[in-house]
Amino acid sequence: MKKIIIAIDGYSSTGKSTIAKALANRLNYIYVDTGAMYRAITYYALEKGLIKDNEIDKKTLISELPQIKISFSYNELSQISEVYLNDINIEKQIRTLEVSNYVSQISAISEVRKKLVEQQQNMGKYKGIVMDGRDIGTVVFPEAELKIFMTATTEVRAQRRYEELKNRGDDVSYNQVFGNIVKRDEMDSTRDVSPLVKAKKAIEIDNSNLSLDEQIQKIYELAKKTAKKKV
Ligand code: C5P
Repeated sequence: MKKIIIAIDGYSSTGKSTIAKALANRLNYIYVDTGAMYRAITYYALEKGLIKDNEIDKKTLISELPQIKISFSYNELSQISEVYLNDINIEKQIRTLEVSNYVSQISAISEVRKKLVEQQQNMGKYKGIVMDGRDIGTVVFPEAELKIFMTATTEVRAQRRYEELKNRGDDVSYNQVFGNIVKRDEMDSTRDVSPLVKAKKAIEIDNSNLSLDEQIQKIYELAKKTAKKKV
């Protein structure tokens, strides 16, 4: 079967990454979490003191972009591709609520998007890739053979994310997480550059009432059908 590109876009905490990862595993494809890349740049800006009192020093961040290297490396133990910033593993640091609170502002900067989109397109050069994010089916791979758009109610998404953060030991409340999700969705969908919209021909899946296995099976079958058609 020919290898294809699978683009999975959707709102925050719809479980895109979990599904994309499992799907890539089953298909023996590469998996790329593009949200992790925007989070890595946000973490860089926080670490360098480029975010103060809710203000981002965009000019300095843009001038430092050429020195920012983002890469992934597979960790056999955790069985995930972990994200590295200038060769330092920052997988845990990018998942905090602090990073979540600023990432939508950082990802609205067109220079940041240009850099990351180029890197993402390179990663998909040979196909056989599952990539999840907000603009994969619209901007990164508008020609992707299979496009999925994931949705779920805000309450379901906030509860999932809250449990994830609590399990990691983070001190957060459900209301904080809910507020962050609503705010990010609004910013991601209304920004000028590459807003989150359902791509043409994307198949929408509302997973509020679907188990993980059901979702993976559904997309896996779509992928097989699409790859066969491509031959
Ligand atoms: O997927 P995740 O929730 O980790 O993404 C974090 C943020 O990164 C999103 O809220 C969005 O602002 C940004 N993002 C984006 N484009 C992508 C992936 C993520 O703008 N392709």
